[in-house]
Amino acid sequence: MQDNNKYDIIISGAGAAGLLLAYALSCKKNLSKLKVLLIDPVKKKGNDRTWCFWTKESTPFDSILSKSWNQLEFVSQSFKNDFSLSPYNYRMLRSEDLYSFIWEKLSETESFQFLQAKVEQVEQRSGHAEVLTEKGTFKAEKVFDSRLIQGDFTGIDERYNLILQHFKGYLLETKVPYFDMGKIRMFDFRIPQKQQVRFVYVLPLTERKALVEFTVFSPDLLNKGEYDEVLQKYIANLLNIQDYKILEEEEGIIPMTDFPFKRNISENIFKIGTQGGMCKPSTGYAFLNMWKDAQAIANQLENKAPINLQQSEKRFQYYDALLLDIMKRDGGSISDIFSDMFKNNRIQLIFKFLNEETTLAEDLKIMWSVPSMPFFKSIYNLAKN
Ligand SMILES: Cc1cc2nc3c(=O)[nH]c(=O)nc-3n(C[C@H](O)[C@H](O)[C@H](O)COP(=O)(O)OP(=O)(O)OC[C@H]3O[C@@H](n4cnc5c(N)ncnc54)[C@H](O)[C@@H]3O)c2cc1C
Repeated sequence: MQDNNKYDIIISGAGAAGLLLAYALSCKKNLSKLKVLLIDPVKKKGNDRTWCFWTKESTPFDSILSKSWNQLEFVSQSFKNDFSLSPYNYRMLRSEDLYSFIWEKLSETESFQFLQAKVEQVEQRSGHAEVLTEKGTFKAEKVFDSRLIQGDFTGIDERYNLILQHFKGYLLETKVPYFDMGKIRMFDFRIPQKQQVRFVYVLPLTERKALVEFTVFSPDLLNKGEYDEVLQKYIANLLNIQDYKILEEEEGIIPMTDFPFKRNISENIFKIGTQGGMCKPSTGYAFLNMWKDAQAIANQLENKAPINLQQSEKRFQYYDALLLDIMKRDGGSISDIFSDMFKNNRIQLIFKFLNEETTLAEDLKIMWSVPSMPFFKSIYNLAKN
């Protein structure tokens, strides 16, 4: 093998997780001598998704956010309220902005190279890993693998719960000013639940423009037309907007599973991103997890520590498994569970809990505040399996 096929690090898959890792490495002066190869069949440019996340901390991506909000509205049949999010805010980042921001930063140094190719296999060899592609074989001291084909869940063991978070959204523009720009509607459960978890969220970008997205958590997808039907009814009847233009559409599928993704595959191979279990099983949020993970990896490399990728704490894995079981068995009850959770807790505590930063005492406070019966049934179910 020629020397120019040898790298310190290969990142297989240059989507969100791969690019965030490359970015975190590029921020470390001590790692500037590393030779890094990113491999992906496509060099992503366009806006194929919009990431939202909440945090109290600043991130390097704050300058390219499309918008951030300090107010949140929760609506269901039984409860409606506005919440002030401070010190958190809810942030929106368009993928096209992130892709160009990161590729621009990577182009400032010779350390990062991109190979447009499909990775066929990643294999452990003695003391290094090998990446087999249609354009040749490459070796590296460490390979971080994030290959992912949307909607392909073949790696997930069927003994575990797998629910799909599937959604369709319109970026719409109204004729006249309509939206309150300072406030998102994070959950609106007033649409028919059909024994599933179904809600709409509204993210206003200007007084006339908003992303309105219909989301379902269920084992199976809906018929294509049903997403549009629900969205159009919601816009007409619950937002009371008759005159609007659809500027863009977004759709996607995110796996929500309690399958324990293996991360430290071998001495030189590691899994990141969705394949590394970074999508929180009960919410599907992954962006902040992936960014924290990328920083942790860069720190371990900087400190010359062995790479040891972390998973969620056991108790959070258990809560997620319970919620997934409820969603699968009795999705219609989630609207009541969420209504009570929002009614009886500060939003800051809910965000902290969903970010897995709470103490056990705080977890218990949240759990006592919601209907207990669905949880008892799922505790029994999980114990039985
Ligand atoms: C439409 C959509 C909206 C989302 N919104 C949010 C959100 O608001 N907030 C949030 O926290 N999370 C969100 N997520 C979940 C999650 O953040 C994203 O899915 C995120 O992109 C996951 O990052 P990833 O690197 O695991 O996968 P991807 O970003 O999909 O990257 C995987 C990469 O692997 C590449 N690949 C595939 N096969 C190969 C191969 N054989 N060889 C090499 N490369 C290969 C692909 O081309 C791709 O570039 C959303 C997901 C979707 C689909």
